[in-house]
Amino acid sequence: METVYFDNNATTKVAEEVLEEMKPLFCDLYGNPSSMHTFGGQLGCKIRKAREQAATLLGCEPTEVIFTSGGTESDNTAIKGSLAAVPNRRKVITTRVEHPAVLAACRDLENHGYTVIELSVDKEGRLDLAELEDKLDDDTALVTIMYANNETGVVFPVDKIAEVVTGRGIVFHTDAVQAVGKIPLNLAKSNIDLLSLSGHKLHAPKGVGILYVRKGTRLAPFMVGGHQEAGRRAGTENVPGIVGIGKACELAAQNLEEENNKVKLLRDKLENTLLQMCPGSRLNGDRENRLPNTSNLSFEYIEGEAILLMLDKFGICASSGSACTSGSLEPSHVLRAMGVPFTSAHGSVRFSLSRYNTEAEVDYVIEKMPPIINKLRELSPFVTK
Ligand code: PLP
Repeated sequence: METVYFDNNATTKVAEEVLEEMKPLFCDLYGNPSSMHTFGGQLGCKIRKAREQAATLLGCEPTEVIFTSGGTESDNTAIKGSLAAVPNRRKVITTRVEHPAVLAACRDLENHGYTVIELSVDKEGRLDLAELEDKLDDDTALVTIMYANNETGVVFPVDKIAEVVTGRGIVFHTDAVQAVGKIPLNLAKSNIDLLSLSGHKLHAPKGVGILYVRKGTRLAPFMVGGHQEAGRRAGTENVPGIVGIGKACELAAQNLEEENNKVKLLRDKLENTLLQMCPGSRLNGDRENRLPNTSNLSFEYIEGEAILLMLDKFGICASSGSACTSGSLEPSHVLRAMGVPFTSAHGSVRFSLSRYNTEAEVDYVIEKMPPIINKLRELSPFVTK
């Protein structure tokens, strides 16, 4: 078996169809869309088409789509750009389980006199909406809450949250980097003001993303310079990336439900079998309200890193919930926020599938994983023998 790639929340393979659309834009159609001549000018219609493809997937107007360099830029633009538009309000509400692109941007605001409130989650990774409502006040400028968690796949009730938040006249942003293409969205029917997504989580290349900005939402540009993106995001357009993300959105919109049902069946087979075959294992996160492709499992008393290294020997790619900080393994901030016991949080492994994975790959992981867990348990100093 060659590489089995179950790390699609980290990044995805570029779809062949996406690559084919992008190819002519490097050496043939390489002009600058801002140029006066026909050679450059013809790229404007390629960008227009990509904007329409993205708008169709998101259920919004093409004019509400801004192309960026990825999820991190979209998140930073949404947060800093919306605050700049309401300088008299000084409070931001987010959650403890956001991606660092949001958490670091919010924590940086504290150095500029903002009050940042990070909402807690319960042991399944769910938010308490009453806590959120309680914190909203006239000083709140922005609420930024992710659509789906990258580590556990837990999906927050974002449409409901957006209704409550915007009903109080407060701007609502969601980091939907992990949700887009995995669950259906219809922004025309939602109160979300700002939404971030990233190309490389969606079978488009790295270095391109989108920020959806609801018509009428006040947003100061984050990148200033030229007049690109109607003055909302300066810089010569990444035309191949934009064309790629447009095509990826078109592909995601086709058969979204069918593809994701197939992925969910594979994920469930993998998850249920591993939980059954590996004693001391547990699922992290709300089983029901979850992305169809993500499974975050903990194996008590062993290190996630050790599991990953042994899986890697068999060509299996996954992720762990720990990060190496100053030489020691710190359990992930998401699992800590959920109160996952230390002995389990350390032994967490995230499998994240895509439409390109097969049942044969799931069976291969099911064959290799239980002996790895047994072997590491035998070696664990924490298990009484
Ligand atoms: N937000 C979430 C939830 C993510 O999972 C990621 C990437 O892992 C990002 C933001 C950052 O996106 P990008 O890598 O495109 O900057």
